[in-house]
Amino acid sequence: MKKGLFLDVDGVLWPDVSLGGILDGFNEAKENLTQLKSSIFDSENFVFLAVSNQTLAARNLIPEQDFRDFVAAFFESLVNLELLDDYATCFHHPKALNESLRSTNCSCRKPRPGMINSLLEKNSLSSEKSLIVGDRITDIIAGQLAGLSLKVLLSGPRSFEFNDSDRTELEITSIRLKPASDLSDVANVINEWGFHN
Ligand SMILES: [Zn+2]
Repeated sequence: MKKGLFLDVDGVLWPDVSLGGILDGFNEAKENLTQLKSSIFDSENFVFLAVSNQTLAARNLIPEQDFRDFVAAFFESLVNLELLDDYATCFHHPKALNESLRSTNCSCRKPRPGMINSLLEKNSLSSEKSLIVGDRITDIIAGQLAGLSLKVLLSGPRSFEFNDSDRTELEITSIRLKPASDLSDVANVINEWGFHN
């Protein structure tokens, strides 16, 4: 059975600094995914999966359908380049200005594990053979709730920030996570884990 490698995208495949985020992120995503894949020793044994909260439409910064189309085309291009195998996106936000995207309890928005669970099932993967890489504790919580074996946190000044509305019952201090300083460090952590799994 292959191993599932779940990747957050904002702050992982490009820096989480500008409002544009995914709108300007394609080239960096392509370069960083290429680099990450070549740094993982047995990358052919991994299924590469993106799981992403995308809120530009919820915040009315882009018309919803335009944004849905853009995001789908973005990830499909990475699939066509064989840099990703599959992806899932949550467009909801608890305080969305766009009412059709306002949801306080959708199952998909990280830290909830819905996107991870559906991709595990769709790709016939086991949670114990899978891992997540994220730059926020909400990615790590989602991975924990989905039962993923390894949670890698790209540590930065905002890693532990999250909205009150995203709070879960889970005690954050009970989660075993592996910190990493950058994507090459992430590859080292994955290689060490992959050696035993
Ligand atoms: Zn959602």
